[in-house]
Amino acid sequence: MVVVRGTGTLVAHSRARGSLGRGSACPSAPFLLEYSAVKQTEILVVGGGPAGLTAGIYAARSGHRTLVLEKSFAGGQMALTSEVENYPGFSEPVSGMLLAQTMEQQAIRFGCEVLNAEATGIKSGPTGFEVATTAGPVAAAAVIVCTGVKPKLLGVPGEKELSGRGVSYCAVCDGPLFKGREVAVIGGGDSALDEALYLSNIASRVHLIHRRDEFRACPFVQQRLRERENVTYHLSCVVESINGTERVEGLTVKNLKDAPTFVLPVGGAFIYVGWLPNTGWCSSLVALDDSGNVKADDRLRTTAPGVFAAGDVRNTPLRQVATAVGDGALAAMSAHDFLIGETLAT
Ligand code: NAP
Repeated sequence: MVVVRGTGTLVAHSRARGSLGRGSACPSAPFLLEYSAVKQTEILVVGGGPAGLTAGIYAARSGHRTLVLEKSFAGGQMALTSEVENYPGFSEPVSGMLLAQTMEQQAIRFGCEVLNAEATGIKSGPTGFEVATTAGPVAAAAVIVCTGVKPKLLGVPGEKELSGRGVSYCAVCDGPLFKGREVAVIGGGDSALDEALYLSNIASRVHLIHRRDEFRACPFVQQRLRERENVTYHLSCVVESINGTERVEGLTVKNLKDAPTFVLPVGGAFIYVGWLPNTGWCSSLVALDDSGNVKADDRLRTTAPGVFAAGDVRNTPLRQVATAVGDGALAAMSAHDFLIGETLAT
């Protein structure tokens, strides 16, 4: 089912030249003639995480007809975060889901439309772009890539087979299924420790398995986790296999410091070993760096003029809600400048 939220009228199948709608700041209306897309907009934001929703707010507020594509729900990874406690403006931790819904409502208030669909490809022409989506093609004069990241797999036997049957990449989604049971969290970054903290409120015991003796997560979270009595650390340890037939029954864990391999009898394995950028749909048009992130310059311009990138999907040194939001704002203003033929003041 295709769901469009917002107040505008984006569905305007027409090959005839017409107004771009509210604002009409784009001088390149002829781009509408070129495409047979069932939907058309000035700025298409692909991805509805914090970067995408902020781009939606700024683009729509600048008078551009703006459409945000959301694959499933507002907020992306942020919405799956139990508590966001370092995004400024909230003295107490705020749920990622609530933050996402509020950002979406804010974008809609400025006239931005939100479409539940996934981008599957993009092609360019002399005056704009056509993005293939699961809801049909969308034509746009400028595109902002905000498709974020997907979880990296651990790559051990049993992981794929037991995915959704005890193997999870989302503690907020699946944690409540493990009330009063023992679970494992694998990883040593902010995601792993944040979610281990969350799970320690639900599970009887959380086994934290990390391949080194030191965590890369911020010290504040490490300290909070140390205060939990139901967390057991397995440092310098790696998971060799995830075991079970119908469901996860345990993990085989190897200690890298010559200690014996052991079996942890857990019912859930929450894997947080990093992320991979979601770029499959646009990699034919924009250049990626060696890690697969979209290359973007200091104005968030990609190698394809008219395509911008914001948030976790790009070559950024810091992946935070706060930096994603900043990216979204800058990318939208760069897209605005592209459309009106100006450049931001330096
Ligand atoms: P990350 O920082 O890349 O950490 C990944 C962790 O997984 C590392 O500890 C890494 O070990 C481990 N790892 C990677 N591959 C592995 C493998 N094959 N087997 C076992 N362990 C493996 O990822 P993240 O924690 O998801 O964080 C991503 C970004 O988002 C970071 O910039 C982070 O700061 C940010 N973030 C921030 C917050 C927050 O501010 N509250 C929350 C979540 C994420 P090594 O340490 O040995 O490399």
